[in-house]
Amino acid sequence: MKNKRQYRDFTDTTKRILSERVAFICSNPQCRRLAIKPHENSAKSNRIGDAGHIVGAFGPRHDPKLKESDYRKIENGIWLCKVCHKIVDTEDTKYTIEELKRWKNETENYVEELVLQDTRLRQLRILCHSYISALRVVSGKPTKLDYTFENPFGNGINLTRSFMELELVLFENTFIREAEIIHCIWQDLTAVCQNINNNAGIESNITEWKNEAIKLFMIYIMRYSSDSYSKYLQQEGVHTTGTKRIELAKSQVALKMNELLEEEKKYA
Ligand SMILES: [Zn+2]
Repeated sequence: MKNKRQYRDFTDTTKRILSERVAFICSNPQCRRLAIKPHENSAKSNRIGDAGHIVGAFGPRHDPKLKESDYRKIENGIWLCKVCHKIVDTEDTKYTIEELKRWKNETENYVEELVLQDTRLRQLRILCHSYISALRVVSGKPTKLDYTFENPFGNGINLTRSFMELELVLFENTFIREAEIIHCIWQDLTAVCQNINNNAGIESNITEWKNEAIKLFMIYIMRYSSDSYSKYLQQEGVHTTGTKRIELAKSQVALKMNELLEEEKKYA
């Protein structure tokens, strides 16, 4: 016969699922410590976290109105490192039921994002690597661009082909928005090339614009990694939020583009 404490405790299955749902990361958003490690005994792992009760079975945040069987339900559990578990259970006025529920929810979402974003970012980087490298080489030779299909073996770097291939690769791999961005950059760059060709002999430099365009594309890549994205924004000193950041970067590129075209017109 189980005593009351045993009855209100989580089953081993519930504990396992609670820890796995957050990949053993402590659910306190200020902590997020990985609460599992290899044990010195190579046949064991060492859990440094616990499945804690949101509504305490006896002490912290206890609600006597709860049914006896509700304390051990998975909905009432949260995975925490041992330090955070101790803190939330001894300072239970500060760490309320609502607060812990929010932590649990946020951390599960965080893990969900982490899994998907990392895979997507890696995939995107692999897909784009050679194209981005090629575009960077082009920076040094702004007058050697070839935006036509007619001369694939000429001296120029065939931009149209490169961009079209990259757009297709991205699209086929379900990076739809990134494919759209590449399409826009390609169209803009073609316009600049045409302008240069129409004004043969004029010293033109599209390096600056193209670097901006690549930077914009990199922002889209970094969107998949919030950490490197925030580092980038810190460097750039941009403090706006969410999609506003992307819009801002976009308008900066558009502005640069217009400046260049205006510059070209002076010589036309
Ligand atoms: Zn913790």
